[in-house]
This record gives sequence, C-alpha cells and structure tokens, in this order.
Amino acid sequence: MLEEIAHKRTEKVPDSKGFFGSFGGSFIPPELQKQMDEINFGYTRLSKSHDFIQELRSIRKHFQGRPTPLYYCKNLSEKIGGGRIYLKREDLNHTGAHKLNHCMGEALLAKYLGKKKLIAETGAGQHGVALATAAAYFGLECEIHMGAVDIAKEHPNVTRMKILGAKVVPVTHGLQTLKEAVDSAFEAYLKDPINSIYCIGSVVGPHPFPKMVREFQRVVGIEAREQFLEMIGELPDHVVACVGGGSNAMGIFSAFLEDKDVQLHGVEPMGKGAKLGEHAASLSYGHEGIMHGFNSIMLKDEKGEPAPVYSIASGLDYPSVGPEHAYLNSIGRTTVGTAGDDETLHAFFQLSRREGIIPALESAHAVAYGIKLARENPNASILINLSGRGDKDIDFVMEKYGEYADRDDY
Ligand SMILES: *Cc1c(COP(=O)(O)O)cnc(C)c1O
Repeated sequence: MLEEIAHKRTEKVPDSKGFFGSFGGSFIPPELQKQMDEINFGYTRLSKSHDFIQELRSIRKHFQGRPTPLYYCKNLSEKIGGGRIYLKREDLNHTGAHKLNHCMGEALLAKYLGKKKLIAETGAGQHGVALATAAAYFGLECEIHMGAVDIAKEHPNVTRMKILGAKVVPVTHGLQTLKEAVDSAFEAYLKDPINSIYCIGSVVGPHPFPKMVREFQRVVGIEAREQFLEMIGELPDHVVACVGGGSNAMGIFSAFLEDKDVQLHGVEPMGKGAKLGEHAASLSYGHEGIMHGFNSIMLKDEKGEPAPVYSIASGLDYPSVGPEHAYLNSIGRTTVGTAGDDETLHAFFQLSRREGIIPALESAHAVAYGIKLARENPNASILINLSGRGDKDIDFVMEKYGEYADRDDY
C-alpha cells in the first residue's frame, strides 16, 4: 500500500527539472546528463508500475524485515524527566541502517533497466554494505569507492562488502574521505554508463536522485506516522533526524510535511567546534553553491571550493546537503539543529545504558538533540529516527573515547 499512497499525494517539489525552489537541479556534463535522463525516465515509468511496486513491497517485508518497530524509550525519558522520547528503529532494518531502503529500490531499478553493475561511493561503509547486499540479492556486480581513511576506520564494513562479493576501490587522494570517493565513483561510472548504474547513497547529486532516494526512503515516514497514531492516538510534537546528505531525515520528514503542528528538526554534526574544518554543519554555516552536480547550501573554503569537513561519524562528513533540506529550511518548514562530538558520545552511551540500544554515531547526533528537546519541552513527544545501529562504531569509540565508558552519569 505504502508506495501507492505515496503516489496519490500531490508533490509540489521538485519540479520537472529537479528544482526544490532554487536548489537541486542537474549541473553535469552532457554525456552524464544523458544517463541521468535515462534513469529519470525509467524511474518515472517504473514508479507507477504494478510489478515494480509489488516486487519492492515484497522485498521490504520478506527480505528487509519491514515494518521496523516504533519504540517508546521509557527508561531514558524517565531519566531525563522531560518529554517522551520515541525511536523509529531503522537500526533493525536488514544490514542495520536505513540505507537498504533506497539501495533495494535503486538495484531493482537497475534490474528493470537491464544494467549489470552497480557503482557507488561510501563514507562510513553503510551505503557500500547496503548496495553490496542489494547487488548480491539481484545477482549484479558491485564496485564501491571508499576513502582510505574511512577504510581504516570502518574495517568491519569493508569486510562485509568483500564477503558480499563487492569490489572495494580505495581512494587515496585529498582527505581520503567521502568527497573524494564521490569523485572517484563518478569517474568510474562515466567509463561504462551503458552497462552500469551509479547509485547515489543519499538525497544528493543531480536530478532525479534527490527525489528518487526520498521516494524510496518515504516508507520510513509512512510507517512511523501510522505507528505513532496507533500507539499514541495523536501525532508527535517533534520529529528529529540526523542530516549528512539527508536521506534518513527526508524519509521520515516526508510523511509529516503536511502536518503543520509537527516540528521537523534536522541535526547536523558540530564536530569539535564552529571553526571551518572542525564540523560538517553545512546548512548551519554554509552558502549557496554547486557541487557534485546539484545546487544547495555548502561549506566552502576561501577559494569557493568544497571545504574540508570533520565529523566523529563518517556518514555525516559531507560538505553539502540534499537540496530539499536547503529548500525546506529556506521556507521555514524545518529547523536545523546541531550536536557536537561530546554530546553525541554522551547520547551514544546513554541510549546504550538506559535502553540496551547501541546507536550508530550518526544516529547518536539525533538522539543527543532529541534529549535536549526533551529537557526543554517536558510535555512534548519526540520521535527520533534511529537511522542505524552502532556495531560498526564500537571498536572506534572504545579505542578513542574509552573514558566515556567509565563515566556513570548516564
Ligand atoms: C549514512 C548514514 C547517515 C547519513 O546519511 P543521510 O543520507 O543523511 O541519512 C545517517 N545514519 C546512518 C546510520 C548512516 O549509515
């Protein structure tokens, strides 16, 4: 049902050129534009096809294990003594994060378009693992480009990708993180765009990806809204999600956009502080600019190039943001919040200790901000999108921040 309901809704954005207000669009070389037009045409047709919708629905239920639960954090809420905190448990989606929602959609599209190979970049490795999983399911080849720094940091995910049969290409120039991996993956794709398809890992990149990835992630919001109404009998006051590129946030936000009383908060990583290079809070500190084929709000250096960014969570260190987030923020529909490393680590341990749920460091940013909201709004209900589980982060956290484990103020 979910996709059919989604398609009955009249979406105002993006327009036919992929613009959300002035943001988005497609700023790419003509040879790549041809491929994007093919993807857009294929997606537009297939998203209305009964067979495509049926197959995706069946995959979500039987392979991914959807719907994921909605969970009330009784212990945590009582400990904080403020508002009530609820989690949408995307950590329980197969592969442990929300990303499989769009990867299965993209791979299904690839199958229908007759493609043989999936190409992508990955930051924390979550998109790579999700795409490698989708490739295995559909019997497609898979090539994942990943910064060498991230390869070292996210070792278990690299291992997973290899076990799943994907080829992992290390990227060793620049800062050797997500941004360089995107450039490298684009290059590889342009070498064989007929047989391969580029699968972007968030609501970023040229049209139609910001729209298409949002539509594949919309299932999170539709489920959460229904589950919340069923459990509580009313809508949440606040919906909170971390924002890297912005796919998990758009997924949950999209179902609440028409509910004007529901406040939507995107949480960006403040890292170590407000100095350029020490955070990845693109919407909070960025300026309008084009990068990776789309216009949005980005962090720039003195020369106007994408600035170096940092986050404790590899999945959030991207110097731009999905154009729909830039748009929704510009019209005042969403609020942009932040969480720094320290608050995030505190939330990481607090959710682990109080609820027995180890969150991904990315998701822990949303939890940290949700906890702040709960403190400030004692009567409010707060729905947090727990975008992923933290198993991938446990060694990194204990090696680098082991002192947090010894504290007892959770
Ligand atoms: C990749 C990732 C994110 C950030 O990506 P968005 O597109 O902003 O959602 C957040 N949480 C987890 C667990 C991730 O793996």
